[in-house]
Amino acid sequence: MHERLTAEYGPRPLVPRREPMHELISTVLSQRTDWRNEDLAYQELRQLGDWDTIASLPVETVAHAIRASTYPEQKAPRIQATLKAICELRGNYDLDFLQDMTPQEGLKWLTALPGVGVKTSSLVLLFNFAKPVFPVDTHVHRITSRVGAIPKMGEGPAHKALLALLPPEAPLLYELHVNLLRHGQQVCSFSNPKCGKCVLRERCDAHALYGDHVPSFVKS
Ligand code: SF4
Repeated sequence: MHERLTAEYGPRPLVPRREPMHELISTVLSQRTDWRNEDLAYQELRQLGDWDTIASLPVETVAHAIRASTYPEQKAPRIQATLKAICELRGNYDLDFLQDMTPQEGLKWLTALPGVGVKTSSLVLLFNFAKPVFPVDTHVHRITSRVGAIPKMGEGPAHKALLALLPPEAPLLYELHVNLLRHGQQVCSFSNPKCGKCVLRERCDAHALYGDHVPSFVKS
């Protein structure tokens, strides 16, 4: 899959796209939100002030600032709780200490933060610190399930199951993650996947079963 997707979409060098706190908070904002609205919500959130200020403002003010994102009234208290926990544990908002942790230590520290799950933690560790972990978003989960790389399971357990199949090489894990994301957006969509254009179809269980009429994806 990695080779075929890289041949299709090109190499994707692992270069951090934004600083760690930006990655962490933006990933929370990105849930069920497209990237434009995620960015809009993040920019307006940062206009409220520094992280200390954002953590201590009334929750309604934070929710209003991130209204471009979905479920702002749920995300605002989660973001504030995350900020408060980071500051209590570290005394500041500098996440660079994660560089010195093993992937497992980093995952344990990040997932212990309120409102931060394994996907968000994995994104920060892989994208910012080149740790060999594999973030499983909705696209990665759907494609790897359809091709038969993993049995029917939720996104959470899929992190471990897929990582066990892959070499612990951060550049490869990054390239595969971003190319799966692109493939999910352009070809292997939730409904009516374009199997006729898919470079994975010869190895896809769903295609072997349904031909060019693979049904809409049903999450576990
Ligand atoms: Fe998705 Fe169809 Fe490609 Fe299988 S063949 S990965 S279902 S687009």
